[in-house]
Amino acid sequence: MFDRHHGVWPANLPLHLVLPQTSLYSNLAISALRYPDRAAMIYYDSPISYRRLDAEVQALAGYLQHRGVAKGDRVLLFMQNAPQFVIAYYAILRANAVVVPVNPMNRSVELEHYAEDTGATICICGQERFEAVTPLLESGRLEHAVVASYGDYVTEDTDLDLPAEVQAAAQPIDCGDAIHWSQALHAGHAPGELEVGPDDLAVLPYSSGTTGAPKGCMHTHATVMATAVQSVYWSHSTSEGKSLATLPYFHVTGMQNGMNAPIFIGSTVVLMTRWERRTAAKLIERYRITRWTNIVTMAIDMLADPEIESFDLSSLQNIGGGGAAMPEAVSEKLFKLTGLHYVEGYGLSETIAGTHINPFDAPKPQCLGIPVFDVDSRIVDTDTLAELGPNEVGEIITRGPQVFSGYWRRPEATKAAFMALDGERFFRTGDIGYYDDEGYFFLVDRVKRMINASGYKVWPAEVESLMYRHPDIREACVISTPHERRGEGVKACVVLVDGAAGRVSGEDIRDWCKDNMAAYKVPQVVEICDSLPRSPTGKIMWRALQEQEWPEAKAG
Ligand code: AMP
Repeated sequence: MFDRHHGVWPANLPLHLVLPQTSLYSNLAISALRYPDRAAMIYYDSPISYRRLDAEVQALAGYLQHRGVAKGDRVLLFMQNAPQFVIAYYAILRANAVVVPVNPMNRSVELEHYAEDTGATICICGQERFEAVTPLLESGRLEHAVVASYGDYVTEDTDLDLPAEVQAAAQPIDCGDAIHWSQALHAGHAPGELEVGPDDLAVLPYSSGTTGAPKGCMHTHATVMATAVQSVYWSHSTSEGKSLATLPYFHVTGMQNGMNAPIFIGSTVVLMTRWERRTAAKLIERYRITRWTNIVTMAIDMLADPEIESFDLSSLQNIGGGGAAMPEAVSEKLFKLTGLHYVEGYGLSETIAGTHINPFDAPKPQCLGIPVFDVDSRIVDTDTLAELGPNEVGEIITRGPQVFSGYWRRPEATKAAFMALDGERFFRTGDIGYYDDEGYFFLVDRVKRMINASGYKVWPAEVESLMYRHPDIREACVISTPHERRGEGVKACVVLVDGAAGRVSGEDIRDWCKDNMAAYKVPQVVEICDSLPRSPTGKIMWRALQEQEWPEAKAG
């Protein structure tokens, strides 16, 4: 039987994984020296070498510094997956600044929250999202933007279907005082000294944590380095391997597995701007892809292609993912098709991707995996915070080199996110689970308010605060609802202001939401209620509403 105290994760051992004590940019600089002519990226059949990647990173870093970006400044990165995302990410780091990755589906109001909260004054965006940036430039909230057209990086003939935003990019838009990507790159500014090291802030991905509005998770170069390096060790990745990047780069799993880990070892990433199953299958076959990290819906979609068996997928050595549970039936079908076990992992924005991954040779279904190198993860009673043993259900807590240092400018939320055990500081994940007799972790529920729509995380408090801008809404409570394809969907229970009943319908509110928030946050159901259940202290009892919606306890 697995015994945590006398097994692989003895209590109170110092964490000791040897990680490069350098900045993340150093990983790219080294790969550019080791493999200058190797393709760092292949974008719809157009290769971009490590030499070129590094040169463009330096050119953009020089431009950002010329525009006043200084050490520790935050820069918004608001873009879909494209070579420019990778270049911009490393350019911001090379300029000694901090990357704020923002979901490109967000609208102006949401983007404004990120700009206000981080104090960022510059945004690097895809040109198809420039319309969302414009109001912030007009109001002076942002001072400047660099606008990228993805199609500029498709330089070779290709028979692949290009998504609309990649084709449309052939026509540069009028971006006023903002600057086009290529002009910024050719402005001729060399960057100054690299002044950041492992303990400096590198990336601020947003998450609501256990409660409340989206908050920036403070990650240093060292914490980001940790999961990038651990992922390489765990997946046996080599510099000769090729990864297919289909998860969004703005989110931690895509960022680490599809960008930072491959750049660390100098391997090649084949990327696509939008998920399209046929293109993905062709790319796996054409480039002999070895590693594909995805989410459940992508795997289901690919398996549903009636011609999938006509593609040669034999190069794949590693298919896996995280962020949402993989149904057993889907992983079985995937196994039949590829001969590979789907390797599920688990992690959070606060841990900049995986803290737990299944062993390749012995994965368990519907399982988060075992803690990766140097991660100490335990289960505690949610009320007493006392440590529990195998098969006992409680909150998952974790410490390790990838755990964030706290929420950006939120000391109270930071305090609440950590607890002490055995003299060590553990991060409270807000996930409820257990580990079995062999030390594998499983998820059974969440204490936190989060809706997991097939990997897209919807934070109810954020949706509610956006809905309160609607003039006819007096109260709103957003909960999770069963959804056939995504597992969980979004439901809003709303109370209207006096006089609005009969005039405003749930559909009207949904239409309004479509214009005012990213599509994945828009409630599929809006129920108009006379009142919402309240606790004796007056708080809306979201959990009571949620339990009515899910009469049987919902799995993670
Ligand atoms: P995020 O901060 O967006 O990465 O979301 C983190 C949350 O995603 C975790 O707290 C879990 O609730 C959920 N999650 C991560 N991995 C898995 C998984 N393998 N299965 C189910 N839920 C997961």
